[in-house]
Amino acid sequence: MVTAAKINEIFDSIQGEGPVVGYKQLFIRFCGCNLNCDYCDTEFKTGEKYTPQSLYEKINSDFDLETFHSVSLTGGEPLLSYEFLEEFLPLIKNTTKVYLETNATLYDELVRVKKLIDIVSADIKLPSCTNGADLFDLHEKFFKNCEGLNTFAKIVFDKNITQEEIDFCTYIGKNYDIELVLQPKMDGNIMSVSSEFCQEILNRFTYKYANTRLIPQVHKFLNVR
Ligand code: SF4
Repeated sequence: MVTAAKINEIFDSIQGEGPVVGYKQLFIRFCGCNLNCDYCDTEFKTGEKYTPQSLYEKINSDFDLETFHSVSLTGGEPLLSYEFLEEFLPLIKNTTKVYLETNATLYDELVRVKKLIDIVSADIKLPSCTNGADLFDLHEKFFKNCEGLNTFAKIVFDKNITQEEIDFCTYIGKNYDIELVLQPKMDGNIMSVSSEFCQEILNRFTYKYANTRLIPQVHKFLNVR
């Protein structure tokens, strides 16, 4: 059976978050998300339907895949389309790396595509910074399933971050050997917290887990998507 997925947009840009910041990526934005974060500024509801083959042909006619560091699967939540990814990713796997941006809740779906992914950017959603939803159980199951994958955890925080949240994140980092990347929440193109507060939070993390760094959203400073 040929699967299909709804794609909101396909575009080339510079990765602005996390450890591969600054690399040129081809972004494929999938429609649909299983969460409803209150800081979400992404339009992912409308899109065009593609089969794995038609998406492969589209990106090959519009871009030169070999010139990108990697293809970023983003959304929305790309793992909702895991059946599509099972068919699409083998088509590009020998040409470029695959970078998955995920909200780190669909742990069974990750297993289905795990061998086709090179780098995972997995969110830890803090209840203090989203809509209060506690996703920690789902996150833990997800990070457990990331074993053997090049994974980092992205943690968007604001002034309301709690010690309990810091304890959970550093536990995940230590227990699953995951690099933690702190990302201050933005209000438009401006950080919602001061540089001093960022340093204080970084110190509170590194006190418990040294493999933590602070990387703001660089694409907002570069004024690219
Ligand atoms: S998980 Fe990401 S795409 Fe989904 S609602 Fe939250 S911020 Fe938006």
